[in-house]
Amino acid sequence: MTSFTKSMFDDIKTSLENNSKSGGNFRDLLKTEKGNSYLVRFIPNVKEPKRTFYHYYHHGWQSEKTGQYISATCPTTWGDRCPICEERIKLYRDGTEESKKLAYLLKRKENWLVNIYVITDPKNQENNNQVKILRYGKQVQKIIDDAMSGEDADEFGAAIFDLSKDGCSLRLKVEENEGGFPSYTSSRFLTKKAIPGMTADKIEEVHNSVFELDKLFDLMTYEDIAEMLNEHTTLNVETNNASTKKTSSKSNTSNTSNINDDDSNDDDSNDDDSNDDDSNDDDSNDDDSNDDDDDDTDAKIQDLLKDL
Ligand SMILES: [Zn+2]
Repeated sequence: MTSFTKSMFDDIKTSLENNSKSGGNFRDLLKTEKGNSYLVRFIPNVKEPKRTFYHYYHHGWQSEKTGQYISATCPTTWGDRCPICEERIKLYRDGTEESKKLAYLLKRKENWLVNIYVITDPKNQENNNQVKILRYGKQVQKIIDDAMSGEDADEFGAAIFDLSKDGCSLRLKVEENEGGFPSYTSSRFLTKKAIPGMTADKIEEVHNSVFELDKLFDLMTYEDIAEMLNEHTTLNVETNNASTKKTSSKSNTSNTSNINDDDSNDDDSNDDDSNDDDSNDDDSNDDDSNDDDDDDTDAKIQDLLKDL
């Protein structure tokens, strides 16, 4: 113990704290429930403004073999090939009912993440005055686009990232659509208003508490995702990505650990009903804009076909 100084302990504690804060985990996502309104203020990443939002694609489905919920960030998020997207093209081409069903199961979903300061969470008041991560889909993105650069930009603009009295909060209204899924279309930014208890010092503290959104999910390689497909669907796909060279047998280990990570995340969501709602959110966003989505899917498939 002699050489173990207090400053070393402080370093360890700090590194732990940093670790837990930097990327965040699934518990840091704000869980929303239908029939409730949440008042939140967006937090900019003041050190790296470009990392204020994280826009990503992902796949998630109930394993056809084990029943567990399987998910992976789609590598098209960062411009790489995705074995799931490629398999979906083949399934569409195949055209049988069974193939189309699997293609739908493996569909690509689009979401965004942003750091938020929670002003009012009616269901979980312990979230009030906390920094959380908001995960949302196209409906909310449209409201944000309008506020930032669209027809509402004059009224809102940069104010949606302002934590002072000159800032505008988002009222996230979660309604139920005809299909029983959550709908966010009645959400809107409100007029400028101070956040109760917010001071200049507190604003600085909040700015320094943002999560690194792009580190929330474990990223998997092409091979890992292909293995996952073989393990959790009836497909038997080539796990070798011809365009990237993969070395060593290490991939097996990392593959397993990635899947386990995903499993543990999903365990979280299974433990928690509202998290299940979150996964429904994704569906509802897709369902609500079915036409757009099909167009989008077709365009992407055309794009992908060019590469084959
Ligand atoms: Zn994909």
